[in-house]
Formats: sequence, structure tokens, C-alpha cells
Amino acid sequence: MPLKYKRVLLKLSGEALAGEKKFGIDYSVVRGICESIKKCASLGAEIGIVVGGGNFFRGRDAGSMDRTRADHMGMLATVMNSLALADALEALGVPVRVQTAITMQQIAEPYIRGRAVRHLEKGRVVIFGCGTGNPYFSTDTASSLRAAEIDADIILKATMVDGVYDCDPNKFDTAVRYDNVSFQEVLEKGLGVMDSTAAAMCRDNRIPVLVFSLADPDNILAAIEGKNIGTIVKE
Ligand code: UDP
Repeated sequence: MPLKYKRVLLKLSGEALAGEKKFGIDYSVVRGICESIKKCASLGAEIGIVVGGGNFFRGRDAGSMDRTRADHMGMLATVMNSLALADALEALGVPVRVQTAITMQQIAEPYIRGRAVRHLEKGRVVIFGCGTGNPYFSTDTASSLRAAEIDADIILKATMVDGVYDCDPNKFDTAVRYDNVSFQEVLEKGLGVMDSTAAAMCRDNRIPVLVFSLADPDNILAAIEGKNIGTIVKE
């Protein structure tokens, strides 16, 4: 099947890497995700990845800690996840580079847009660590920023739920899933897609977001092929 999207920004929540453990990294889960990414790459997709850090640490949940310092810890958590993904991809023979928004040159390349794009053109997966590099932001915002910078066709937001609902499907049996929804509606109704900064950025820069479940990692491939899964959020 031909690819519907050539260049994508894949957003993985940190939680998705923890599997049943709900904390830290489950390497078999990471491997499953990376096997699907490998299939996409071998079909010619150019893949940038932003990964969250919630399986280790979230700045906003750090109680009485200074928020900026707590967010620094959260960003470091995203680097651990980035390195785990890079390791699994490399073990599968997929060329990969990690670039971080806060420089840590002994561990990863610094984020340089031109270099990231060049890596993508050469068929390397690029993992963007440290989110935006700034406190008070999220990895959702980092996804919209990097997607805009690398001129991605779409953000593929792989989550724990299979799309966007009109209310929380874990709390209400009556919840209805949207096939498509606008960013305006997401913002007005406060739908749980991404935070408002990230949603506004995608809306203003016309970057569509496909929200789908990672319960089956091959959904990443299905999404890139344009199969009818999840919810598409557009203008
Ligand atoms: N973070 C940040 N700036 C960013 C991205 C992330 O400060 O640009 C910090 C923030 O503390 C956040 C943590 O990193 O709580 C982990 O990111 P996020 O909560 O987005 O991860 P997810 O929930 O997707 O696993």
C-alpha cells in the first residue's frame, strides 16, 4: 500500500513505553513500537519522534518543587525515553539520531533543524529529546513545534485511547468518538487531545493531528498508510 504521509512527526507519550508496569520502561513494549516504526521507515516514510516523560516524571505533578526545576527533571525524563527508543531502533537495524533541545553533547546531538531535516532525507529516524527545551511547555507543544519546523505532513499522536471522544470514555459509557473534529472545537470544548498551546499552534500552522491507539503498535503503520483509524483533528 502506498504511503499517505511521507514525512511524519510521531508523538509517543512516556506512559506508552511503560506497558503494564505504568512506570519506567518495558523493553518488550518499546521493541514492539520500534518494529512498527521500522516497517514505516522501510516503506520510505521520514519519521521524526517526540517522546514524553510521564513514565518517569512530570513537572506539573512535582508538588512543592519549583516548577522550572521540576520541568527540567521532566525534560531529562524525555531524554531517557529517547535513548531507549534509539537503542531499540538501532538493534533492529534502523538508522537513528537523537537530538536534544538542551545540549548534552556526550549523549546526543544538539537540536539543529537543518541537520535534522538532512537526517530525515537520508532515511534516518530522528528523535527529538528534551521537548522544547523550555519549562512550562509540554511534549505536545514540542511535537507541534518540531512538526512545523521539519514541515511534517501530519502529527501522529499515539495514545492510550483510540481517538478523540466528546467526554472521557473511561468515565462515561455514553462517550462518542469523533472521526474528525476541528481544532476550534477541541479548544472550545476542552477535548482531551493535547494541551491548548499545542492545539492552537497546530491550528495556526495548519498541521493536522491523527489521534489513535498504540494498543496495537502496527497502528503506526496503518496511520501512515492512511487507513481509517482514530480521529483526525484539522482546521
Ligand atoms: N517538559 C518541559 N518542557 C517541554 C516538554 C516537556 O518542561 O517542552 C517537561 C514537563 O515537566 C513535562 C515532562 O517534561 O511534565 C514530561 O513531558 P510530558 O508531560 O509532555 O510527557 P507525557 O505526558 O507525554 O509522557
